[in-house]
Amino acid sequence: MIKFKENISLKDYSTFKIGGVSKYFIEIKNKEDLKKVISEIDMPFRILGGGSNTLISDDYFNGLTIVFKTDKPQIMVNDMGCSGIINVEACVPFSFLITKLKSFVGLEWGVGIPGTIGGAINGNAGAFEESIGDSVSSVEVLEIGKGIKKFEKKDCNFGYRTSIFKNNPNLIILSAELNLNKGSSLKKIKENIKKRKLNNPKGFSIGCIFKNHYGEIDFKKHSQFKEFYEKKGYISAGMLIEECGLKGFSIGDAKISSEHANFIINLKNAKSENVLKLINFTKEQVKNKFLINLEEEIQIFHV
Ligand SMILES: Cc1cc2nc3c(=O)[nH]c(=O)nc-3n(C[C@H](O)[C@H](O)[C@H](O)COP(=O)(O)OP(=O)(O)OC[C@H]3O[C@@H](n4cnc5c(N)ncnc54)[C@H](O)[C@@H]3O)c2cc1C
Repeated sequence: MIKFKENISLKDYSTFKIGGVSKYFIEIKNKEDLKKVISEIDMPFRILGGGSNTLISDDYFNGLTIVFKTDKPQIMVNDMGCSGIINVEACVPFSFLITKLKSFVGLEWGVGIPGTIGGAINGNAGAFEESIGDSVSSVEVLEIGKGIKKFEKKDCNFGYRTSIFKNNPNLIILSAELNLNKGSSLKKIKENIKKRKLNNPKGFSIGCIFKNHYGEIDFKKHSQFKEFYEKKGYISAGMLIEECGLKGFSIGDAKISSEHANFIINLKNAKSENVLKLINFTKEQVKNKFLINLEEEIQIFHV
């Protein structure tokens, strides 16, 4: 019989420090234990990695929350000469993997991104026009009711902050194989740490709330976005929100960051409801002003 903790507040398992109580709770640190737990339980469950991209409802969750994250990560590197195949379990912190692989290049963009490999693959985390899907060659998945499957890269449907795994709770990511070239990543890691320090606001958050807008806009009316769009190929969600005058706007303790308008900061005791209201209000304002429908990048655990 697996022993679960009971009535655990999920606040401490989200970088937002928001979240209600889960009736049952377990922390799992390797894929064998995860497979065992999932095969034995008969109740609704949800899986969290680092909780750094998830808004968790304050309502009581009458099921099991599994936190799949380890503090003693194991990574297998198969050196192929000019490249390497890296086998990594989903519970490994992404930042740990990057600092462990200093003689490989391709993941330096991810330095400073909190969370696990599983969470990163689920949402195809990325930065500086690169994303984890670029380096994944396959993903080992436990499909609920069907067993273990290997998803080749082409089956993962990686796209801008999306994958086949996002919004599909039946697909549990156990591990992944990454293909990386040999080289020294240290210089780029240092540069990216500096960039992050400039861009990431301080305080409890779950990263960028909305995806950037890859469609166009009426540039005759809104010429302020033209230069950025021509350079980058998209309109930044943060710029759209800032242009609506929402920097610093708050509902309860949930505040649109004054440093980066695409971040919401939990000042202290923000409720999930405050954040949801702020998200909806922001979407309305951007829609009214620019006729653009912002889409959430974050994931939401409703009950
Ligand atoms: C300060 C800050 C900066 C950030 N910067 C970036 C950035 O530059 N780019 C970026 O893309 N993101 C960024 N993020 C968001 C976040 O850190 C990443 O998206 C991260 O990869 C999420 O990983 P996680 O383990 O925390 O996911 P979680 O929030 O724990 O989970 C996210 C989703 O994945 C699912 N999931 C988790 N593990 C598994 C698994 N093993 N199998 C199946 N599903 C799973 C969960 O159920 C949930 O739906 C930032 C966040 C913060 C707080």
